[in-house]
Amino acid sequence: MESVFHGFTDLETLNRDGPVVLTHGEGIHVFDVNGKAYMDANSGLWNNVAGFNHPGLIEAICQQARRFPGYHAFFGRVADTTVALSEKLLQLSPFESGRVYYTNSGSEANDTVVKMLWMLHRRNGQPQRRKIITRLNAYHGVTVATASMTGKAYNAEFGLPLPGFLHADCPHYWRFARPGESEQEFSLRLARSLEEMIIKEGPDTIAGMFCEPVQGAGGVIPPSEGYFEAIRPILRKYGIPLIADEVITGFGRTGEMWGSVKYDLQPDAIVASKCITAGYFPMGAIILGPALGEALTRVSEAAEEFPHGFTAGGNPLASAVALKALEVIETEGLLDNVRRVSPRFLAGLKGLAEHCYAGEARGVGLMGAVELVSDKNSKAPLDGRLQIPERIANKALGKGLICRPLGQAIVLGPPFIITEAQIDEMFAILQETMAEVFSDVGL
Ligand SMILES: *Cc1c(COP(=O)(O)O)cnc(C)c1O
Repeated sequence: MESVFHGFTDLETLNRDGPVVLTHGEGIHVFDVNGKAYMDANSGLWNNVAGFNHPGLIEAICQQARRFPGYHAFFGRVADTTVALSEKLLQLSPFESGRVYYTNSGSEANDTVVKMLWMLHRRNGQPQRRKIITRLNAYHGVTVATASMTGKAYNAEFGLPLPGFLHADCPHYWRFARPGESEQEFSLRLARSLEEMIIKEGPDTIAGMFCEPVQGAGGVIPPSEGYFEAIRPILRKYGIPLIADEVITGFGRTGEMWGSVKYDLQPDAIVASKCITAGYFPMGAIILGPALGEALTRVSEAAEEFPHGFTAGGNPLASAVALKALEVIETEGLLDNVRRVSPRFLAGLKGLAEHCYAGEARGVGLMGAVELVSDKNSKAPLDGRLQIPERIANKALGKGLICRPLGQAIVLGPPFIITEAQIDEMFAILQETMAEVFSDVGL
């Protein structure tokens, strides 16, 4: 309490209950300093998909550490392991060819793509093409640029977004549809409103649009039906690159290797991070598709270089564990397991939605949320002061389950190795906890 400054932490709860200090993990459980075990229904922060003590991943780091533990990727130098990872990422990607660029986090990766687009357009004689479109409820990170891209009210604390960062509509049908509007009509309306925004701003002032295939930190919001089909032609029409922020959805979370494939985004580049090392080492990666990769190489040659880089970007330890993590996801059956247990997971969510204060259960693959309301029909939100989702998460923590309150929702994203029995246990704890919390607050 005296030495650590916590971000994204409810300080009232922290000051009352203290931090949870963890010592180790086993499978999908983590253990605190008192020896108490917690099932982590959020895979750490979406990323520890192979659990917390995978022997192969640990060994991959150890072997690389003994051979070549650290180097950079500036001045045309690069670790052999990082080259191998780049080839692997391109092979896994939906692109036929491309280039991979490394950072240490998802925020840095999105931030880097913004600079790539700015340089590209400027060198191509369109220096005015600088505006970035994202969507309300989007989460793209915390750097100055990516916080500006994130469509959350808390960034007003920093006087953000910066000018030139635009937020289009959030494709959440249940919450934002007009009375009588079908899901297809809703998607078409959002696409029209996006086009109006582009025309109003000036199509030749837009540098690019970033989309999470499924909005994650916005509360697990899969796109409305037909959404990407509707916006893709508009972006094409105005020559606006589409960047898929797959920091959560990349490598299997939706049941497909890529959210872009699941929802047919056909992006120009993919941003990956979280699962890329299964949470065992910091790494972000930008996978540029062939057109963007070639265009950026061309303008960088004209400028002599792409003047950008992180000291630890493409670090060999990160690369080694990423290579192993991708192998584990692909060949140790992790992706298969996501597909196998997902119906059980989604059924469990539906079960929670039967609660009289649950408005919507939504999800795909192994990511889901249940949104709480004060009235199922009007969808009126609960009184925020009651802090019901926080109470549920705190109470579940006491029962040995880590889950995440997000707005008025409870968000779940368990590790890819979770079993059906563990899924049942997770929902049993949640059912019990929800009943207790609603009775505690007198609802
Ligand atoms: C977590 C996240 C980021 C930011 O990644 P960091 O590694 O925390 O910087 C960016 N985009 C999405 C979709 C994320 O979920």
